[in-house]
Amino acid sequence: MSSKYAQQKSNVYSYVLGSKLYLNITNACTNRCEFCVRESAAGVTEGSLWLEHQPTLQEVLDSIEHPEKYEELVFCGFGEPLSRVDAVVGIARELRKYGVPVRINTNGQANLIHGRNIVPDLAGLIDIVSISLNAESAEKYQAICHSVYGEKAFQAVLDFTAACKAYIPKVILSVVDRPGINLDACRKIAESLGVDFRVRQWNPSLA
Ligand code: SF4
Repeated sequence: MSSKYAQQKSNVYSYVLGSKLYLNITNACTNRCEFCVRESAAGVTEGSLWLEHQPTLQEVLDSIEHPEKYEELVFCGFGEPLSRVDAVVGIARELRKYGVPVRINTNGQANLIHGRNIVPDLAGLIDIVSISLNAESAEKYQAICHSVYGEKAFQAVLDFTAACKAYIPKVILSVVDRPGINLDACRKIAESLGVDFRVRQWNPSLA
């Protein structure tokens, strides 16, 4: 994925923000969102989140010390974690032992990536999934997110959300509050799917 900023490589597989531990298991992503921090900075931590290689399951687990002390464990990354669904399943299975809620932040395109419904794989392992909706229409979504799948990505995100509702206790659709986004229409989409809705603040200085 190109960035206008230098891509210093690192081995930051997990990092702490506040009381939560974030897991960075891949830099691969099927989107190129205009607001993505990847497009504007080296990362959200003091170290770069650009990886030298995709970490193995064991490398990620070895990077985590005392998972029980965190409020939440979050697959987030500098990429789309569910592009590595097998790694997510393996890591989450280990982390379940600590009784800490596990969340995934995702672009919702995993079923397109894998050509099957991967959501049942996550049942009993993931407590919360936060899916980026980002726009109220396929056209606008593609104009902002530049998915490799084109405008069909938007419907895939909605279908993925509905699939998650059947298997994961808490499902959130999120939108970055940017000029031109119809937040009310986005909220209605979330309501129609029976999931929670969250607006994330946009930091124009990172754009
Ligand atoms: S889906 Fe997430 S990681 Fe991928 S480009 Fe968009 S904001 Fe960045």
